[in-house]
Amino acid sequence: MRMILLGGPGSGKGTQGEMLAREFGVPRLSTGDALRAAVKGDTELGRKAKPVMESGGLVADEIVLAIVESRLAQQDTAAGFILDGFPRTTAQAVALDAMLQRHGTPPLDVALDLEVKDAELVQRLLLRAQQQGRTDDREEVIRNRIRLYGEETRPLLDYYAAQGKLIAVPGSGAVDDVFRNIVLRLAEAFDKPAPGARLG
Ligand code: ADP
Repeated sequence: MRMILLGGPGSGKGTQGEMLAREFGVPRLSTGDALRAAVKGDTELGRKAKPVMESGGLVADEIVLAIVESRLAQQDTAAGFILDGFPRTTAQAVALDAMLQRHGTPPLDVALDLEVKDAELVQRLLLRAQQQGRTDDREEVIRNRIRLYGEETRPLLDYYAAQGKLIAVPGSGAVDDVFRNIVLRLAEAFDKPAPGARLG
């Protein structure tokens, strides 16, 4: 399974991505996590990314692409992967397609969109700010991230729909219900039974 996760900040990509990674036995690669680790480790890349992340902006494509390319070169991604938080721009999506081709990796199977309304995203992120104190979860930064999502990332829905790869699922509701729905939709799309979908 080669999957990317779309959906706004706070839509649940990290949570669902972890559950999907377990379900399919493939690693979840989060560019946000990788960048936060680089910031924490005070690497050169982290020092470049830090102010951009703190303002809710998008880190330069070349930085993010380098992270993804080195991660996809590792052996554990050979059987598949779940990309969380990448691609976020059309340039990144085009570069990813080219990267997979260059490496002789099969193309993506699915682009999964977790649909959550902007107003709910803001509420979720404000709550997360209180609980976890992420420095990019302040209100004006949150609004900037949601605005950028609309401008830069939402166009990717059309990009992947045109490739016949888009599956959109509601991201509101209980975590387990969202997950069950995703697994069912994937099973339908690939026309085979869903092993992890415990119905009823
Ligand atoms: P979110 O909660 O918005 O999904 P992430 O944890 O995915 O947050 O990412 C946190 C921050 O890291 C983003 O706001 C952005 O600054 C940076 N970032 C992560 N992935 C990318 C990417 N693919 N391109 C550019 N910047 C990125």
